[in-house]
Amino acid sequence: MAINKTIRGSAQGCEIEFKNVTGQLRQYECTLVPIVTNNEVQGLYAVVKDVTERNIGYESQRLLKESLESSDDAVLVVDVRKSNLPVVFVNTAFSKLIGERSNEVLHASFNNLVGLLEDEDEAQTIKSALADARATSLTIRSHRKDGSIFWNQVSLSPVRDESGVVTHFTAIMKDISDKREQELTLAYQATHDALTGLGNRALLEDRLEHDIAIAQRNASHLAVLFIDLDEFKPINDTLGHRIGDEVLVSVARKLEAVIRPTDTLARFGGDEFVLLLPNIQSRHEAQEVADRILEAIGQPHHVGSHELYVTASIGISMLGEDLDFANKLIQQADMAMYKAKQQGRDTYEVFSNDLDTVLSKRVTLRNELQEAIRDGQLYLNYQPQVDQNGRVCGLEALVRWNHPQKGLVPPNEFIPVAEETGQIIHLGRWVANKACKDAAVLLELGLLRGRVAVNLSPLQFHRPGFLGSLKVLMEQTGLPGHHLELEITEGILMRNTEAAIEILEDLRALEIATSIDDFGTGFSSFSYLKDLPVEAVKIDRSFVDNVTTSQKDAAVCQGVLTMARAMGTRVIAEGVETREQFEQLKTYGCQAFQGYYFAKPMGFDDLVGWLRLNLVVD
Ligand code: C2E
Ligand code: MG
Ligand code: MG
Repeated sequence: MAINKTIRGSAQGCEIEFKNVTGQLRQYECTLVPIVTNNEVQGLYAVVKDVTERNIGYESQRLLKESLESSDDAVLVVDVRKSNLPVVFVNTAFSKLIGERSNEVLHASFNNLVGLLEDEDEAQTIKSALADARATSLTIRSHRKDGSIFWNQVSLSPVRDESGVVTHFTAIMKDISDKREQELTLAYQATHDALTGLGNRALLEDRLEHDIAIAQRNASHLAVLFIDLDEFKPINDTLGHRIGDEVLVSVARKLEAVIRPTDTLARFGGDEFVLLLPNIQSRHEAQEVADRILEAIGQPHHVGSHELYVTASIGISMLGEDLDFANKLIQQADMAMYKAKQQGRDTYEVFSNDLDTVLSKRVTLRNELQEAIRDGQLYLNYQPQVDQNGRVCGLEALVRWNHPQKGLVPPNEFIPVAEETGQIIHLGRWVANKACKDAAVLLELGLLRGRVAVNLSPLQFHRPGFLGSLKVLMEQTGLPGHHLELEITEGILMRNTEAAIEILEDLRALEIATSIDDFGTGFSSFSYLKDLPVEAVKIDRSFVDNVTTSQKDAAVCQGVLTMARAMGTRVIAEGVETREQFEQLKTYGCQAFQGYYFAKPMGFDDLVGWLRLNLVVD
């Protein structure tokens, strides 16, 4: 074809492919020129050049360019042989990423782009990578042409020629804002409480360590406040978790409103908050903050249609010279908070070293109690109750803890701890179960007179499902309701009276009696007692103790008995130790008695023996 055209008189160029003498297929560029004499084509020249290598080069360049073009990552190539570092290539992705047209960037100096970086360090990293002909990568906050900001992951790498000299640098860039966002979200979630948005324990511990270091360097004061809501459980139990959650959020907002921006507030879970006050002038300042917090939390919390009131107990610990463990500081604030609870709540307490011994004993007790319940270190004692003629008319079950090292631990020591920690639920269930089983055995043996009384904690009484589990228990043990009595405290009835009355009525329907323990020590007033379906009151030992020696205590006993008789309520006198007390109470009309004068609390086997002896005398 080309030859024909050449023969007709016009020069031609073409590329052809054929095997050379060694049999290799090669590409050749041919230039065909006609030889013209007297306007006649006499012949033609052919200049043939082997262009195989050159074509391969072109092809790979084309491929390279196209693949860079089609890459999702932005690519920019800089010629570093020239001092002004011109940009010699950018792909479409780059224009998209930055929002500049490629012709605006091409041939411009790379220095101009680097000069736009806000961060000196970042610019320096890039410059020194170029100077040292090193690859590097970094994430920088970059601006688009429209001013918007994105997280740009940049990888720079040198390009060398055959002799190893760096001629170019490629910069590959990627918008990683989404990934970065995700990382930040994860980091946020790991350090914050989802419900309130406050920091969590991890964040607080982190800040605490940091702030302790600063406080020690500056010899300034630092305080940790451990804040625990009082009686938060009943809110959760009676109004539900959703309301409980909203109360916690409301508390968090009120706390935030009274602290400084440099303070760190965290939620430790449940109803516990911890506040870190770095850089304060004195202990007094921490106490002032505690006062402000108590005041703020005491304001009404509007939650749904409810207006709720809560209080808190606060423990304060101060950074001392010898103390640099963040955790120890939190622990001490926790202990001081316990002390504040004991002080009657809605107050604060500052940690001191003597607290340490008292309270760490408490903390140990809490842990050991867990084992006690599990390992069967608990058992029951029974104390008989008698009527005016000294005949047995009932029993009270009293729990005992036989500690493997400490021996007998009195219930007055561990019951309050169990109540604080919630372990009382587990413990109380065990007591009720055992007492009903024992009573059923006594019934079998014909030794049961009247009822077996079991002490109940407020937490047990108000717990949903309390009645249900009691019914199950009675079915399992076969003990009829009229052989069971529950001793409750006035506190149970003062709170949430309507709900309490409902439970008392349900108990009555099951023929289970209820009595008010330690009557006279609380807010006891007969005016509210008359509306309550309870069968009996137990006059507290403290009045019985002095009934023969103190006119005042005698008057209290007499008063209780007179009023009770008028209302048809039975009275049991607790802690009768002498014949005189017994006689005097009888003259006031008391019908039931319990105390060392008749019998001390005893184990089940002893009780069986005692009953056999005393019932025979009957
Ligand atoms: P409480 O229910 O008022 O029990 C009466 C306490 O007085 C018992 O002490 C008993 O041993 C003691 N006592 C009886 N007669 C006399 C006496 O004549 N003189 C003197 N000085 N004391 C006498 P205990 O067993 O140490 O129990 C103390 C408290 O621990 C109980 O007071 C009760 O509030 C609580 N408790 C005992 N067992 C349980 C239980 O199973 N559950 C709950 N929630 N609390 C329990
Ligand atoms: Mg009792
Ligand atoms: Mg009592």
